[in-house]
Amino acid sequence: MIWDDEKWKGLVGELVQMESPSGFSEGIEQVQERIVNELSGLDLQHRFHRTENGPILEIFREVEGKKGALLLGHADTVWPLGTLDQMPFREEGNRLYGPGVLDMKAGLVVGTAAVQDLTATTPFCWLITPDEETGSEASRRIIQKRARQASATFVFEPGGGDGSLKIGRSGVGAYRMAILGRESHAGLEPEQGASAIRELAQQILWLHSLENRVLGTTINVGVVEGGIRPNVVAGSAQALIDIRVRTQKERDRIEQLLSAPPQFDSRVRTEYHGSFSRPPMDHDSRAQVWFRLAAEIWERISGLALSGINVGGASDGNFTAKLSPTLDGLGAVGQGAHARHEHVVWDFMKWRYALVKELMEQAEEDEKDEDLRINWT
Ligand SMILES: [Zn+2]
Repeated sequence: MIWDDEKWKGLVGELVQMESPSGFSEGIEQVQERIVNELSGLDLQHRFHRTENGPILEIFREVEGKKGALLLGHADTVWPLGTLDQMPFREEGNRLYGPGVLDMKAGLVVGTAAVQDLTATTPFCWLITPDEETGSEASRRIIQKRARQASATFVFEPGGGDGSLKIGRSGVGAYRMAILGRESHAGLEPEQGASAIRELAQQILWLHSLENRVLGTTINVGVVEGGIRPNVVAGSAQALIDIRVRTQKERDRIEQLLSAPPQFDSRVRTEYHGSFSRPPMDHDSRAQVWFRLAAEIWERISGLALSGINVGGASDGNFTAKLSPTLDGLGAVGQGAHARHEHVVWDFMKWRYALVKELMEQAEEDEKDEDLRINWT
């Protein structure tokens, strides 16, 4: 097959017009069914796994004695039902707009086109999940299981604006700081009180002292609340905190510090509750081999250099990076994921398709001597 612009543009339009916010199983399944339908003429198998967050679609081809690539996509978007009314699917010059077009309906089309044109003996497994945008709670286990069985993992999250791949993703921690102080009258007996708000202020300064921008560790206190009246020493306070780390070592350091925080006022009790939902994704040497291969292919087909970027946002690639060499950001290229101006630059699509197809063929390897194909050094 040769890339068919009109056909695939039509499919992007169809998928964008099937609204599929996380939690809306009906829309998610509609997107998944449409892809099954598009691939129905091929010798492929598929199955649905039902979960409390909606169906997980698995499309695969097994070849005796061979391992293949794991492809990761998600059918859910961050856009609530009805968004299409204000943000309809539209084409302007070389760009396509609409809710979820970049993250990741057009990425699903890159995958569909690549699978459709794949050598008929190449094994692979493609998961299209329903809950990536809300943390992949129900999909995480099967993603990890399939990653262990795969020779490489390719993720259809959007690439950078110049087509670059995402070679590092932060791990994300969500924490709540809970402080219990002691109330008293601010005028009559201030010394009897132990202010939770004063402690909170000092805890926030302490938290920021833990950041390390060079290593990519950031801490944001995004919400604070506490106290009841101006003339009462505050008896309780809390804050909600977002933490991003690029390495496991930084995650361990932060977790340890939060498990035993300092006490600025010994009469006050401070606790941090929370955890990291996704581990950091860093590029190990095996992933670097794949990145170099991707860069060679990309330059040959598009004439452009391929760069790798580190980003703060997490994806399902965070789950797989430790289990199989992972390339992320192989989906569509554009701007504005999760924003009103979300769009795809169409010219990149044919190159993305060709890149993914070739990577999938390279990922086919014999189970017994998997190290022969690529020398992991
Ligand atoms: Zn996404």
